[in-house]
Amino acid sequence: MMEFTPHSTPKGTGWIEVIAGCMFSGKTEELIRRLRRAKIAKQNVKIFKPRIDTRYSETDIVSHSEQSLPSLLIDNPQEILKLSEDAQVIGIDEAQFFSNDLVDVCNTLADQGKRVVVAGLDLDYRSKPFEPMPQLLAIAEYITKTLAICVVCGNPADRTQRTIHSDERVIVGAADSYEARCRKCHYIPD
Ligand code: ZN
Repeated sequence: MMEFTPHSTPKGTGWIEVIAGCMFSGKTEELIRRLRRAKIAKQNVKIFKPRIDTRYSETDIVSHSEQSLPSLLIDNPQEILKLSEDAQVIGIDEAQFFSNDLVDVCNTLADQGKRVVVAGLDLDYRSKPFEPMPQLLAIAEYITKTLAICVVCGNPADRTQRTIHSDERVIVGAADSYEARCRKCHYIPD
């Protein structure tokens, strides 16, 4: 996976980092890695995720490889502003489940001098950009695109294949209903 290595850390200002990719690409692992390092550096870190994602734990962000960090479950991006007044670093997981209000919230936090690290699915199961990720990618100073491995051919994979039938854009808690696929092997279900 690409290492996040800015040539120099910005001084006297906040900034936004976005980690974008398909399922099973290691987004959450990378988010946890960055936030853990900030905690080791004795920075005040707050972590948020949408209440919709209750797959593994009510209070932790947990990656598929089962690393975890305590997080706050929220319904509305505006809550992040209220709960982050004393935070220096703010982590947000599963950003695609939030409304587009998240874009203004992230800008406000960065303008307040905070480091904002956001992870999310950039494409839905039909390979359409998944709001608000496109907007977040546009306003971010640093972008990491994580790639998985295509389960069909072994190519680098940036798409999420749904393997069961549903017209819902999101099926929460159904990781076994998805596979990572490359451009060649991904298809849009009927
Ligand atoms: Zn493939």
